[in-house]
Amino acid sequence: MRKTTKELFGEIKERIIVDLEENEVICEHCNGLKMKYVESNGKGHVEYCNKCHNGKMRVCKHCGKLNSTSYCGCRGEWSEKEYIRFSKAKKISYYDYDGKILMSERACDVSDIEDYLYDLIKNDENYPEYWWATEKDNFSLSVDLYDQINNNEFVDSDWFDLDNEWDDRLTQAQDLIDRWAHDKAFDTYTETWKIAIDLKPLIKKIKEES
Ligand SMILES: [Zn+2]
Ligand SMILES: [Zn+2]
Repeated sequence: MRKTTKELFGEIKERIIVDLEENEVICEHCNGLKMKYVESNGKGHVEYCNKCHNGKMRVCKHCGKLNSTSYCGCRGEWSEKEYIRFSKAKKISYYDYDGKILMSERACDVSDIEDYLYDLIKNDENYPEYWWATEKDNFSLSVDLYDQINNNEFVDSDWFDLDNEWDDRLTQAQDLIDRWAHDKAFDTYTETWKIAIDLKPLIKKIKEES
């Protein structure tokens, strides 16, 4: 006998066994199915549950709140260290910051955070209200040929007395290395706790638009 979607959902709900880790509970909205059966105006349909992560919720070990991500945002989780860092940091508006930020350890444009925040807000999830700025560094290789020669522990310092011709060639070689290093140099970004980017103006804009 064929069963209705509603009946099937009821049965699966009864039978499903979800493996739970410590600090996890089954999502009360979908019972761990990640899909839920919804009825409106006498018609039923299946909907994707956007309240949970794979049918599970994480219990914050600090405040006990249920979250779909491992990020809670409560004061307890926001460790004392982070709190101190943040209070000492200079705050700069999202719209005034033109550097890069790190997201999942990758350097991104600060505008990339807009989509990320939009998704969190749209899905009713916790979102950060600030983000750390980065400092830019330039990585380039530096090789000093003279230094290499003069600081060689295996030979006496007068062993490598250069005549003019070799001195010239060495200078040229050094010049080549310097140009190569300059060409191959690239920017690196490290998070700095000196500046916190205030995301509230952006959050306000996203909420107004959605
Ligand atoms: Zn769910
Ligand atoms: Zn919490």
